[in-house]
Amino acid sequence: MNEADGAATESKPFLVADTAELTIDLVDTHCHLDDDAFERDIAEVVERAAAAGVGRIIVPAISLENIPAVLALADRFPAVYAAVGIHPNSAAGWRDDWIENLRRWAAHDKVVAIGEIGLDYYWDKTPVEVQHRALRQQLALAAELGLPVIVHNREASRDVLDLLADSPLAGREEPGVLHSFSANWEVAETALAMGYYLGFTGPLTYKKADELREIAARAPLDRVLVETDAPYLTPQPHRGRRNEPAYVRLVAERLAELRGLPLAEIGQATTENSRQLFKSRRQLNHVISV
Ligand SMILES: [Zn+2]
Repeated sequence: MNEADGAATESKPFLVADTAELTIDLVDTHCHLDDDAFERDIAEVVERAAAAGVGRIIVPAISLENIPAVLALADRFPAVYAAVGIHPNSAAGWRDDWIENLRRWAAHDKVVAIGEIGLDYYWDKTPVEVQHRALRQQLALAAELGLPVIVHNREASRDVLDLLADSPLAGREEPGVLHSFSANWEVAETALAMGYYLGFTGPLTYKKADELREIAARAPLDRVLVETDAPYLTPQPHRGRRNEPAYVRLVAERLAELRGLPLAEIGQATTENSRQLFKSRRQLNHVISV
């Protein structure tokens, strides 16, 4: 390819597939749009998502510090919704009064969940007891506010399941999602039995992820969500570069292939699932006023 060709290709807007087939409706249920990686071209990123059929993007906070930026994005872009919570890797300085801050931020009318919260034994940035304390208190807050939770689990399945089972959310019909699911079928089954959804991300397209693909094919269709976790976990064929919400379509395409269903049907099912789980106050108000 010559230089001129390269430049032309680079400036072309991103298209995942045939634009003739635009009836597809997708939701990126987990995207860190406030990340520095998007600072330069955020408006284009949101536009490309819309062009790829992604009508809604849910942006979870990870710390008290980034919550204002996340809510500012929800204010700026109609397609963007937010979740507020403290990620286990930013919970090292956890103080019980942070719950007051979270409760206040959660009153924003585009907040649809408490997240992302959970346990991370891989990075080990926060002492385990502190991670547990932060998770327990945030689960209780979600129960109090009637919001679902977005759960991060890295190499901590046993404890995550135990804490979820032991929280005031237990017994609720749709308590939340195990985001970027990466554990085994046994964990999936236990979470599904508790009413949790499973969120699938870019790794579904990775060569060595056969076990994950089996789980994604086997989980009930009414319990499956698609997400990017952008800027991380970029699906193939873009792995190695920045991920962005438009690429959730690549995850959905792989899911469609695995389940032997048309992409439009996967789009419809996962979008319906996300609407079912994440009902914002703005939506609820709308429903009530109709
Ligand atoms: Zn995340």
